[in-house]
Amino acid sequence: MSYRTEEVAYVQPAQPGANAQATQQQRSTAEYRALDAAHHIHPFSDMGALNRAGSRVIVKAQGVYLWDSDGNKVIDGMAGLWCVNVGYGRKELADAAYRQMMELPFYNTFFKTTHPPVIELSALLAELAPEPFNHFFYCNSGSEGNDTVLRIVHHYWATQGKHSKKFVISRKNGYHGSTIAGGTLGGMGYMHDQMPSKVENIVHIDQPYFFGEAEGNLTPEEFALARAQQLEAKILEIGADNVAAFIGEPFQGAGGVIFPASTYWPEIQRICRKYDILLVADEVIGGFGRTGEWFAHQHFGFEPDLITMAKGLTSGYVPMGAVGLHDRVAKAIIENGDFNHGLTYSGHPVAAAVAVANLKLLRDEKIVERVKTDTGPYFQKKLRDTFGAHPIIGEISGAGLVAGLQLAQDPKTRKRFANGGDVGTICRDFCFNGNLIMRATGDRMLLSPPLVINKLEIDEIVSKAKKAIDATAQQLGIS
Ligand SMILES: *Cc1c(COP(=O)(O)O)cnc(C)c1O
Repeated sequence: MSYRTEEVAYVQPAQPGANAQATQQQRSTAEYRALDAAHHIHPFSDMGALNRAGSRVIVKAQGVYLWDSDGNKVIDGMAGLWCVNVGYGRKELADAAYRQMMELPFYNTFFKTTHPPVIELSALLAELAPEPFNHFFYCNSGSEGNDTVLRIVHHYWATQGKHSKKFVISRKNGYHGSTIAGGTLGGMGYMHDQMPSKVENIVHIDQPYFFGEAEGNLTPEEFALARAQQLEAKILEIGADNVAAFIGEPFQGAGGVIFPASTYWPEIQRICRKYDILLVADEVIGGFGRTGEWFAHQHFGFEPDLITMAKGLTSGYVPMGAVGLHDRVAKAIIENGDFNHGLTYSGHPVAAAVAVANLKLLRDEKIVERVKTDTGPYFQKKLRDTFGAHPIIGEISGAGLVAGLQLAQDPKTRKRFANGGDVGTICRDFCFNGNLIMRATGDRMLLSPPLVINKLEIDEIVSKAKKAIDATAQQLGIS
């Protein structure tokens, strides 16, 4: 199917500050859906099924709300895709992009040149990140961030004369993006199944998923410690001289908001130090305030050597990723000649200008502090008060403004539903129809709203989630 442009009625774009309802729509929902089905392949989707059902067309957003092309107002419990930390519709970010596009829309940083936005962003990140992080390399996404991590890790060990350190250890059910390197680093079996070519020398250990995988009477702390010690066993199996790095998300996001017990990360750090292995924190979701700290590794109390950043770095207004280098890694990279890696848009001026505006909002409006001391604790308590004794909720994980709700057949014995994912899909559809965006990973329901959410809006999310989860239990005949 195709269309002729002259048939399209031109509609004036909304004036800055115009409210959502005033935006005129260019096409009917049916037209949008037909064209979408005809020409657009969506990520991570069964396109046949999606085209038959039709996508929901999102046309506008403000604060924590989205509007679809039928005029429905939807509360966004996922901050887009874990990224719109400052909420939708912030003029400061739009102005920064506009100003930068007029001043210098693009210039590269490959050949002895730089520009003010990337300089300001680097200095600001050095101010906001923990003390030993003073250097940053830029890219356009979290996936490219993890590709960059691999390049830095390998170059680092080459500069140390340790050429045999090639293996990178990651975790099953971790998510590190969908480039070939990101997808290989990640531990998503359904992605690996469609990737006959993978990056070499990447191996996986088990994840610290207590509810689903702890056997016997282990406490969460004992289980997390045992899972961390798998890293040591794997290092000994491969040989420490052959292991370059361990990578993990401080908490697994896409894998189901899996929060390891407090024993996990200190043990991972101990093992990495003992065997001289770089520790990489993939902070693409955890970074920029999600847990109430600037970075999630601060919440868990460990110190990585490299930090992958994206999503909240620009609140998703434009794409950007980055890697933060610990001083000791940065020094080796800086003092050892050429590092043969870069992307045309590394440190893109518009993205950098938006990132600066975004980080200043997070800092100056004390958004991160609010998540830590006010809205985060309120959200976590509200979830526990509402679902702590629910007949199909087995576990509530999270901190700050991120949470996972484990749907379970029998919460007391940690019995999960058969056909993992079926019940999550039912629940997700109830949320969707109730105008709440909540994601399902298997049978875990995930929430990660914009960090600017207020208590009334939190109440709205939790009450809509309750309705959806109650409806799910009712459909299953459980009460
Ligand atoms: C989203 C995500 C990525 C990939 O980022 P993209 O921008 O989608 O490439 C990597 N790591 C984690 C932890 C993520 O959540």
